[in-house]
Amino acid sequence: QAGAKPQRITVLGSTGSIGTNTLDVIARHPERFQVFALTGATQVDLMLRQCAQFKPRFAVMVHAQAAQQLKDKIQAEGLNTEVLSGAAALDEVSAHPDVETVMAAIVGAAGLSPCLAAARSGKRLLLANKEALVVGAEVFLDAVKQGGATLLPIDSEHSAIFQSLPEDASTWDARVEKIILTASGGPFRTRDLATLKDVTPEQACAHPNWVMGRKISVDSATMMNKALEVIEARYLFGLPPERLEVVIHPQSIIHSMVQYRDMSVVAQLGTPDMRVPIAYGLSWPERMASGAQALDFHALSAMTFEALDDHGHPERFAGIHLAWDALRGPRGTTAVLNAANEIAVAAFLERRIRFDQIHDVNQNCMAQLSPSAPHNLDDLLALDAQARAVAEDAVRLLAK
Ligand code: NAD
Ligand code: MG
Repeated sequence: QAGAKPQRITVLGSTGSIGTNTLDVIARHPERFQVFALTGATQVDLMLRQCAQFKPRFAVMVHAQAAQQLKDKIQAEGLNTEVLSGAAALDEVSAHPDVETVMAAIVGAAGLSPCLAAARSGKRLLLANKEALVVGAEVFLDAVKQGGATLLPIDSEHSAIFQSLPEDASTWDARVEKIILTASGGPFRTRDLATLKDVTPEQACAHPNWVMGRKISVDSATMMNKALEVIEARYLFGLPPERLEVVIHPQSIIHSMVQYRDMSVVAQLGTPDMRVPIAYGLSWPERMASGAQALDFHALSAMTFEALDDHGHPERFAGIHLAWDALRGPRGTTAVLNAANEIAVAAFLERRIRFDQIHDVNQNCMAQLSPSAPHNLDDLLALDAQARAVAEDAVRLLAK
């Protein structure tokens, strides 16, 4: 948009994998974007470099000690960025009247409150933080509706689906037969099942196609990432669980597909580079350069597909089915599943439980807790805390 005013943007979780990719795309278009606020948790030096490059009005470090360190360094460098700390500051920079766009790239349920703040304030909300939608579902979508926000998916699968759907959302239910999410299968798709219990955090975090944060990397290895994405798709696109399907596609070239009533399938393809969906969210409904490599069809040797129930997969990827279980459970069940999984993954990364026990914790917690329908952020946070406590107990029992 030549001559248009730059979009002012808050990047929540700017020090993470999605956050740094977002800033990489933004840096390619200085005329289109102005960084209003950046947020992080602990990485002071990276945040300092980001402040020096993007000159935001605010930088939030959630942890007070990190905020103080950043403050000192910002002062020493003579930068004008104001440093804030604490979780409430995340809401502030998401709802601020001088912001048009919020990139939600915090990992986990910690991102829910600032997402709701942005939604209620009618922002253009770019959602990478899938856990926020999985936890908040109805409350989240109500806030988007009431605030008049524009919710755009950043998860590569959901961006692909969004790009493959007609523009008019009111036609989706009538025209679409089903949504097919692709899954790479992660690093252990062909590993001997008997050795899954020996998987280390380092092995689980080495994804064949994508470089990502540690939590989502473990989720990709257990297939819980795909479970969270099925839930995410259910709420973003409004189709019932039985019209959501997952197919394994190890090369991650097709990012997801939409099958229409006439059996025509529309898919979105590209190299596995998160800057593509990020650029699409930032520029939608326009298109702009992302920095990604073009897909080289001549060099593509094969695109292959496997069913979830192919030999060895049901046991290997048991977690995926929890998505449909949670969606069919009482309202709040998806929040329970997410909380359990966050605790289980953290316990695995701390080497307190084995890789294969992540699923046991998730299943256990879902079986033990029957949520009473959460209606607002406080209900959700209470349910999240309750589920975390139950999951912690399950971890302690297993870790003995
Ligand atoms: P990451 O771990 O690399 O980064 C997480 C960011 O959140 C960091 O900036 C960190 O400082 C911040 N953060 C962590 N805990 C926090 C807390 N309690 N309060 C406030 N801030 C906190 O994670 P990532 O890979 O960038 O993923 C971010 C989100 O995007 C996740 O929800 C993930 O599922 C989703 N996502 C990531 C990718 C990817 O390629 N990395 C792809 C699709 C979706
Ligand atoms: Mg994804």
